[in-house]
Amino acid sequence: MTTSDYTKVFKQLKVKPAKLAKYIKHNAPKKRTSGDILKKCKRCGRTGAHIQRFGLDLCRQCFREIAPKLGFKKYN
Ligand SMILES: [Zn+2]
Repeated sequence: MTTSDYTKVFKQLKVKPAKLAKYIKHNAPKKRTSGDILKKCKRCGRTGAHIQRFGLDLCRQCFREIAPKLGFKKYN
Protein backbone atom coordinates (compact mmCIF):
# COMPACT_ATOMS: atom_id res chain seq x y z
CA MET A 1 0.00 0.00 0.00
CA THR A 2 1.37 3.38 -0.98
CA THR A 3 0.93 6.55 1.00
CA SER A 4 -1.72 7.91 -1.34
CA ASP A 5 -4.04 4.90 -1.10
CA TYR A 6 -5.80 5.90 2.14
CA THR A 7 -8.51 8.03 0.51
CA LYS A 8 -9.25 5.75 -2.44
CA VAL A 9 -11.76 3.68 -0.44
CA PHE A 10 -13.83 6.72 0.56
CA LYS A 11 -15.73 6.69 -2.73
CA GLN A 12 -16.69 3.06 -2.24
CA LEU A 13 -17.71 3.48 1.42
CA LYS A 14 -19.72 6.69 0.91
CA VAL A 15 -23.01 4.73 0.91
CA LYS A 16 -22.11 3.09 4.24
CA PRO A 17 -21.40 5.94 6.70
CA ALA A 18 -20.86 3.66 9.72
CA LYS A 19 -18.30 1.57 7.86
CA LEU A 20 -16.63 4.73 6.59
CA ALA A 21 -16.27 6.08 10.14
CA LYS A 22 -14.83 2.76 11.29
CA TYR A 23 -12.46 2.71 8.33
CA ILE A 24 -11.22 6.20 9.13
CA LYS A 25 -10.82 5.37 12.83
CA HIS A 26 -8.62 2.38 12.17
CA ASN A 27 -6.80 3.38 8.99
CA ALA A 28 -6.18 7.12 9.20
CA PRO A 29 -2.48 7.87 8.93
CA LYS A 30 -0.72 9.17 12.04
CA LYS A 31 -0.28 12.92 12.27
CA ARG A 32 3.47 13.27 12.04
CA THR A 33 5.72 16.17 12.91
CA SER A 34 8.96 14.77 11.55
CA GLY A 35 10.32 12.02 9.36
CA ASP A 36 10.94 11.14 5.73
CA ILE A 37 7.25 10.55 5.02
CA LEU A 38 6.59 14.32 5.20
CA LYS A 39 8.96 14.94 2.29
CA LYS A 40 6.72 14.20 -0.65
CA CYS A 41 7.26 14.91 -4.32
CA LYS A 42 5.25 18.04 -5.24
CA ARG A 43 4.53 16.60 -8.70
CA CYS A 44 3.43 12.99 -7.98
CA GLY A 45 3.41 12.58 -4.19
CA ARG A 46 6.04 9.85 -4.06
CA THR A 47 8.07 9.70 -0.84
CA GLY A 48 11.15 7.80 -1.97
CA ALA A 49 14.31 9.25 -3.55
CA HIS A 50 13.36 12.83 -2.70
CA ILE A 51 15.46 15.72 -4.03
CA GLN A 52 15.34 18.75 -1.75
CA ARG A 53 18.38 20.50 -3.16
CA PHE A 54 17.77 23.89 -4.87
CA GLY A 55 14.22 23.80 -3.43
CA LEU A 56 13.12 21.29 -6.08
CA ASP A 57 11.06 18.98 -3.81
CA LEU A 58 10.81 16.32 -6.51
CA CYS A 59 11.35 12.58 -6.61
CA ARG A 60 14.12 11.28 -8.82
CA GLN A 61 11.70 10.02 -11.47
CA CYS A 62 9.95 13.40 -11.86
CA PHE A 63 13.29 15.19 -11.80
CA ARG A 64 14.54 12.96 -14.61
CA GLU A 65 11.46 13.79 -16.68
CA ILE A 66 11.45 17.57 -16.25
CA ALA A 67 15.17 18.32 -15.69
CA PRO A 68 15.79 19.59 -19.26
CA LYS A 69 12.83 22.01 -18.94
CA LEU A 70 14.26 23.30 -15.67
CA GLY A 71 17.60 23.98 -17.33
CA PHE A 72 19.64 21.06 -16.09
CA LYS A 73 22.02 19.55 -18.59
CA LYS A 74 23.49 16.05 -18.69
CA TYR A 75 27.20 16.16 -19.36
CA ASN A 76 27.95 12.58 -20.41
ZN1 LIG B 1 7.49 12.72 -8.41
